[in-house]
This record gives sequence, C-alpha cells and structure tokens, in this order.
Amino acid sequence: MAGPDLTLADLPLRAELIGEEPYGAPQLDVPVCLNVNENPYPPSSATVHDMARAIQQLAGNVNRYPDREATGLRTDLARYLGFGLTADNIWAANGSNEVMTHLLSAFGGPGRTVLSFAPTYSMYPEYARNTLTRYVASPRRDDYTLTADDILTAIEQHQADIVILTTPNNPTGTALPVSVVEEVLEATTAIVVVDEAYQEFTEIPDDSACALLSRFGRLVVSRTMSKAFAFAGGRVGYLAAAPAIVDACRIVRLPYHLSAQTQALARVALAHAPEMLENVSELRLQIQQLQLWLRDHGLDVVPSQANFCLFGRFADRHAVWQGLLDRGVLIRETGPQGYLRVSAGTPDEMSAFRSALDEVLATFPQRLPH
Ligand SMILES: *Cc1c(COP(=O)(O)O)cnc(C)c1O
Repeated sequence: MAGPDLTLADLPLRAELIGEEPYGAPQLDVPVCLNVNENPYPPSSATVHDMARAIQQLAGNVNRYPDREATGLRTDLARYLGFGLTADNIWAANGSNEVMTHLLSAFGGPGRTVLSFAPTYSMYPEYARNTLTRYVASPRRDDYTLTADDILTAIEQHQADIVILTTPNNPTGTALPVSVVEEVLEATTAIVVVDEAYQEFTEIPDDSACALLSRFGRLVVSRTMSKAFAFAGGRVGYLAAAPAIVDACRIVRLPYHLSAQTQALARVALAHAPEMLENVSELRLQIQQLQLWLRDHGLDVVPSQANFCLFGRFADRHAVWQGLLDRGVLIRETGPQGYLRVSAGTPDEMSAFRSALDEVLATFPQRLPH
C-alpha cells in the first residue's frame, strides 16, 4: 500500500522548499570510501566491548526518558576539551548539524542574517533555510584564506548577526589563525561561531579558539565527534561557549533530543579518547604525503590542514569522479570548478586511490588552465 498517487508538487510545501533536494553525498556500497571525511579506523575491541556493556545496562531502562541535560556527557566533553571548561560551557546534540540548528534557532530567525565565506560547508545554507535565517556567503581570497579585515568588512556590509568561521575550512582545508578570530571578536558584536570540526587533524590541535572563551561572551566553538574522533555513526556534535549561550540552546532544543544510547556510547568513546584518536597523526601524514604525490602528478592541490584535500583542476571533474567510482573508489565532487575532494584513508585505501587515479588520468588528462 503506497498511498494515494501523490507527488511533492501536490502538497502545500513551504515556498522556499519547492525544488529543494535532501542533503546527500551519495552513500554507495564500494570498497574504498574516501568521500565524507570519516576516520577509516573502527574502534578497538576494548572500546567495542565497553560500548556493548553500556547498551546492555541501558536496555533495561529504556522505558524511561534519558537525562534531558546530558550532564554526564557534557562533563566528559568539557574535560576532553580542557581550557578550564566545565559542563556549563558545553552543549551537545545529534551531530554539529543539530548544534548549528540550535544556534540559528536561538540567534537567527526572521530578520536575522548569518554570514559565512565561500567556498565552505554545504550544510550552512540549509540550517539557515530551515530556521528562516537569511544566508549570505562572502567570497574568500584566491588562496581561500581570510584576514580579519575581510571578515569585519563582510559583517558590516551584510549587517550579519551571526558569522561562521570554519577552520580548517571544508572543502578547502584552509586554517584560520586564532589571532584572526581574536581580532574579529574585538571589533564586532555579532555572534562568532568557529567551526573546528577538523581541529584534531591540525598541526597544533590545542591552538584552538577555545583559548579565547574566557574573554569573549559571543564566541562559540563548534566541535564534532564525527571526524577525528571516529564516532560518525554515534551522531554527537558539541559546542563550547559562555553558559548564557548554552542556556539559549536549551530553550530551543526538542526535549530529550539526545537518546540515552547516544549519550552512553559517546561517554564510552570519550573514556577511550587516546585509542579513538590514535590514528589521527597517521591520517594527517597520509594526506600530507598524498598532497605531494598529487603535485608530482602535475595537479593543483589546495594546502590542507585537515584529513582531506582538494585537487584538480579537471576540465571534466565528473568524468574523473565517475572513473574513480568505476574502479571502486568513491570521493566527493565538491568545491570550486574543476576540483575534487578526497579524504584520508588507511594506507591500503590511499594506494587504491592512487592506482585508480593513475588509470583515470591516462583517460581524462584534460586540465583547466591555472
Ligand atoms: C563534517 C563536518 C561537520 C560535522 O558534522 P556532524 O553533524 O557533527 O557529523 C561540521 N562542520 C563541518 C565543516 C564539517 O565538514
């Protein structure tokens, strides 16, 4: 029973959603997945064992609602981040996508503007749309960097209420120095959200905007357990900010938004933090080596501080992407014209990628001019 013969066009959808497609990097069943910047290493057997035990204990209580405030998890996240933060400084939700939605629900909305800097994460405009917030993307410089002046000028020009600074930026991998964030905070009253989804992959992970939290009440640092922390399936993102920002998120969140299982599994992962993160430096090395290899093959590479990099520029990037897929390697068709993005994988996955790309380059050698 499929229901009455009805398409979306027959329904009274909100005007701004007409013609929209659901978000989605393709989820395909192929041997080598280097398309969504996940950590390719599964948890250790000790971690898996503890996770199973935690779920076993919870299952007997599943008739009860979970801790609405996720206090235990927020305490663990504060300890993980350091910087003297406590649970009152932390908010957590189902991925940083939900954290961002909470922020825009609280500080955006009709008549408010959120600003980011293109090219950047493709989800930001969707959070804005869903929360009825105006979205503006200012261009980055030719090398995808930004100065404090660029950011402050754009805030002024667009009268931004919220600005999102992504570091390292997705899909370019470009990092933004903490000193630039500091200069921006000194000169604006906008809410400044620093999206540090890939911070653990940078050269100095402790060189984080978290260091500025004690001085700036309108700073929000967004993090996720989906990338370096190897917990993408668990769906936990979080932010660090002044307790008043956390209070704002608590108003707009749906009650009991984080399931008991999510909270418990994330806490087990955090208790095993050194193991969860143990391959991060190896992944950083893989992507640094890959950048050299790509340059040796005459390709343009955007220098990356994250676990992925942009390379190109192909006259027909879709053909290159498809050629790799035909050889069992899935990467991401995203970023500026002619570029493709590849994530760091295991050494075996990286060599599969290099072999496949070698073959494809022989078939589609056409490049765009520098
Ligand atoms: C992957 C990513 C996130 C994390 O999203 P989750 O919802 O936590 O999985 C956040 N910001 C950027 C820029 C990303 O690339």
